Amino acid sequence: MERLAIVVPCYNEEAVLKLASAALREVLSDLVRKGKIAADSFVLFVNDGSADRTWELIEEEHAAFPVQVRGVKLAGNVGHQFALTAGLLTAKDISDVTVSIDADLQDDVSVIEEMVDKFHGGCDIVYGVRKERRTDTFFKRTTAQLFYKLMRLMGVRTVYNHADFRLMSRRAVEEFSKYRETNLFLRGMMPLIGYQTDCVYYDRKERAAGESKYPLKKMLGLAFDGISSFSIKPISMILGMGILIIIVSLLALIYALCSYFTGHVVQGWTSLIVSIWFLGGLQLLAIGLVGQYIGKIYMEVKQRPRYNIEKLLIEEAMSTAEEERKNQEG
Ligand code: UDP
Ligand code: MG
Repeated sequence: MERLAIVVPCYNEEAVLKLASAALREVLSDLVRKGKIAADSFVLFVNDGSADRTWELIEEEHAAFPVQVRGVKLAGNVGHQFALTAGLLTAKDISDVTVSIDADLQDDVSVIEEMVDKFHGGCDIVYGVRKERRTDTFFKRTTAQLFYKLMRLMGVRTVYNHADFRLMSRRAVEEFSKYRETNLFLRGMMPLIGYQTDCVYYDRKERAAGESKYPLKKMLGLAFDGISSFSIKPISMILGMGILIIIVSLLALIYALCSYFTGHVVQGWTSLIVSIWFLGGLQLLAIGLVGQYIGKIYMEVKQRPRYNIEKLLIEEAMSTAEEERKNQEG
């Protein structure tokens, strides 16, 4: 039986921690009872440098349930994406499969069972996808939708309406650990891993207690990270704009020349207008071109793994080759 680790990043979540712990332990014992996961499966709380009593509560829970509740304490606040990564990488060595979920119980814990079923069915990554966003405010809903549209426009592969509620097998986390970049946008990285994936659908609820730790500023930061870490399209756009403006300047040249020869222009206007357009275009083109190289360097310094080999069918071939060699020697 596989051991499941439920990874929960927590930042100032004292209001909801005990609730979350109880709900997740309930899920675990239910799955253990049904024989779907090992009895020593656990919840791993990651305290992301909370300023309130979150860590004390995690310690209390661990004392009460030493097997089912474990904790990681980060030395300071590093943000949701890093806290989650810390949890996943810690869990990977002591579990066979992980589920990541927010502490606020907005994601439906009852679909974890479905995720585990899909894992047993051969999936390495199972995405939790929100069906509707009825409980979100109009503002959050529209900005989020805009965000997914923009991501697609920029050529970043993400799963629509999936946040960081997902199941990952040990080997998927192992592969993820090879991504050494520091601008983290987990949702964009998971599709790069490969393997068989699937989705489960659920209704997102309201926060069980406490308030959102993702104010607009952090949301914008995440969106910008998502685009800038995965796409150098904005740079290509500058280049494109430069080319466009140079073309426009050529048209302007033709127009200015016509005006000049038909004779109704002020002295000097022709050369002035053409050089303004042309120089503007040239500058954008040059910036865009330099940007292209910087974009390449940026992608290069990430040192991402270039592929992920899922299976090798070469042992047999190697051993026959070895046997042949031995036969020849013998
Ligand atoms: N979180 C974190 N570090 C941060 C901010 C948030 O670990 O700096 C955690 C938080 O405790 C929660 C999850 O990230 O478990 C999602 O945050 P929240 O529910 O506030 O975001 P929202 O659902 O409002 O987008
Ligand atoms: Mg939330």
